[in-house]
Amino acid sequence: MRKIALEEHFMAPQFIPYFKSTSANISPDLFDKALGALADFGERRLAAMDASEVSHAILSLAGPGVQIERDTATAVRLAREANDFLAEQVRRNPARYGGFAHLALQDPAEAATELTRCVRDLGFVGAMVNGQTNGIYLDDSRYFGLWERAQELNAPIYIHPGNPVDKPAMYEDHPELWGPVWSWGVETANHALRLVFSGLFDRFPKATLILGHMGEALPFQLWRLDSRWEISNRGDKRLALAPSEYFKRNVTVTTSGVCSVEPLLCALSALGSDRVLFSVDYPFERSDIAAAFIETAPIPDDVRRLVCHGNAEILFHLQR
Ligand code: MN
Repeated sequence: MRKIALEEHFMAPQFIPYFKSTSANISPDLFDKALGALADFGERRLAAMDASEVSHAILSLAGPGVQIERDTATAVRLAREANDFLAEQVRRNPARYGGFAHLALQDPAEAATELTRCVRDLGFVGAMVNGQTNGIYLDDSRYFGLWERAQELNAPIYIHPGNPVDKPAMYEDHPELWGPVWSWGVETANHALRLVFSGLFDRFPKATLILGHMGEALPFQLWRLDSRWEISNRGDKRLALAPSEYFKRNVTVTTSGVCSVEPLLCALSALGSDRVLFSVDYPFERSDIAAAFIETAPIPDDVRRLVCHGNAEILFHLQR
């Protein structure tokens, strides 16, 4: 079945030093192999897409990108370069590629301006954010302007895993837990919960957050979030809706890097069949495994069609 994939990464030479900061999180073997695949926009990438019937891939710079740059002006300049570079690749093959903006979140006002440029002028469909920036998360009031713009532009923001600013003691002596096995999921789920519990989606009810990895385990937790929110020591926090309602209204998840049936069924039943979208996480995951998984998952074909391409076409206003 035809597929649209949206957690698919690329690399440009000037961003390799930032990308290398993730080398502690994945095996050196995969890291080296990934670099070649990330840099390719031709035969190699298209062959992987063709073999798994991915007709269209929305590309994003492999993290953390400029979000770990210490100098704000450099981050701003390089984010624009990343977006111009990607726009050129998309322009060469618009049928097969789309783009997510890369943002220098060190400068929130500039990030909003760059998102606008990327959507209006470069034809991108949203932004991908690689977790925190200098320890600041997207629920911070400094980012209200960015969310307002994202809502206006109908541009979803995809929060991709990254490292927290400090390494918590709970990972001590467990390097295997630091990265995709565990800590990235914890960090990203926590980021999403900060957005929900801050009331961000009361302020921006039409904003869309995308989470990968089948929702970073959050679909499994919705009932408990509602139930324990009721008795939590919440300070002055107020929400118009139960926490789970925001997940059903403002959060869309992708299947990136989770090729198993149980979490797919959980995400579909917790969020609805219109809120789960196929993705691979190329080149860190195998396209053939991701494709075989969704092709054979025990779900009705009309739901499979939505997950594979129908939901993405609606969310990103893509032509059929
Ligand atoms: Mn990824």
